[in-house]
Amino acid sequence: MRAVRPSDLVAPALGGALFALIAGLVAGRAGGLAAGTSVGLGVWLVVLGWALRRPLRRLRVARRALPAAAGEWIEAHGRRYGPLDPARRQRVARAVAFALDGLTFEGAGGAEATPELRLSVAAGAALLLHGRPDWELPTERTVLLVPDTFDEAYGDEEPGVYDGMVHHQGPIVLSTRAVQDGWAYEDGHNVVLHELAHVFDFEGWEADGVPSFLDPRSAEAWTTLMRKEMRRAERGQGILRSYAASAPAELFAVATEQFFERPARLRNHHPELFEALVAFYNLTPPDEPELGAGESLMSRRWS
Ligand SMILES: [Zn+2]
Repeated sequence: MRAVRPSDLVAPALGGALFALIAGLVAGRAGGLAAGTSVGLGVWLVVLGWALRRPLRRLRVARRALPAAAGEWIEAHGRRYGPLDPARRQRVARAVAFALDGLTFEGAGGAEATPELRLSVAAGAALLLHGRPDWELPTERTVLLVPDTFDEAYGDEEPGVYDGMVHHQGPIVLSTRAVQDGWAYEDGHNVVLHELAHVFDFEGWEADGVPSFLDPRSAEAWTTLMRKEMRRAERGQGILRSYAASAPAELFAVATEQFFERPARLRNHHPELFEALVAFYNLTPPDEPELGAGESLMSRRWS
């Protein structure tokens, strides 16, 4: 994950220069060459200073050491990121740092945005993004943590049916219990990965199951594949839960959960979908461990 992309610098430099030229010409016509030059230069510096705030902030975040707890979290859940050689570890750590810095966390209904929960969300963002250094989650998002399942009027007393929800431009709402369960079991359910996958979708005009980062040339084949997999999920074929059949966006989000949690099973049962996700995320997740004798995937509460 790059701290600063060339486009972060080139666009404001050129745009600022154009503004500066216009302002300088106007000022020069009224006050002469010296006035025009100083006004133009001043405008250019103001525009540059404004545009460079974010890249400079990211450079500072990239240089700052990651909190010890974050390092421990990556270590504990590192298997999912693949072999953590120094280069990959640095990429993941940086993605976690950017997500921690960029997202705003709030607790509601008695839930508290603890450092552990913040990390659980930021590390999910890092998992999705670490294969694509040029991708970024939109940083203006707020993550609202609520204690348990909720309904449309989250924060209500009554338990609802959702573990997570994301609005087009609103907050990402997550049940803290579901966030903790999501990372505790590699069972193909991870509400953080699910809702963040929706965020990719919402970058376009609508959540249509065609993520905004997808190469437009692949969009048609992608849509065809999502529709085919929806029909399979509806018939109970394969390993995707039936919820995936409810919309292309849900198919993509549910498949993303499986891709990072149980990639070997996804590859075996949905090879075409697996390959599409490998190409999209630009990484191949390491196979999940095989179940030992006596272990059961049904050991967690299913909801
Ligand atoms: Zn969903």
